[in-house]
Amino acid sequence: MTLRLLAVFWTVMSAAGLAVQYLFGALGLVPAAHPHQVVMAGIRWNYTTALDIIALIGLAGLYWLYRNRERFGGGAGYAKDPICGMQIQKVEAPATACYAGDTYYFCSEHCEQTMRRAKRGRAVPHPGRAGRAAPHQQPPPNR
Ligand SMILES: [Zn+2]
Repeated sequence: MTLRLLAVFWTVMSAAGLAVQYLFGALGLVPAAHPHQVVMAGIRWNYTTALDIIALIGLAGLYWLYRNRERFGGGAGYAKDPICGMQIQKVEAPATACYAGDTYYFCSEHCEQTMRRAKRGRAVPHPGRAGRAAPHQQPPPNR
């Protein structure tokens, strides 16, 4: 299929190129001499420099707006799922949880449970160090 498409495109392209060449040749539009310089030799100030600067200023403005979006009320009513990073509407969030006074919004019950498990693991002191001291609690070595 890919090869067939390639062949068809190649044929059409070649035919179109030949057609344009013969058409221009028949109308006498083919230039006799090639332009001396097509590509600029180096970077110079010309009419596009002003456009470049305007585009850069616009880009900087957009970035500034993005950085200050909360000050202008952007993203209000939306929250980010701390587990998967999805953006969710606070009122439509399928699951919410409150930890240490902060409300978290989740895209699904699954993410909420992942968060709960992570929080539980952090709250309970890790038994790893104590367990390593007692040899009978060591997991069997992998074979
Ligand atoms: Zn999620």
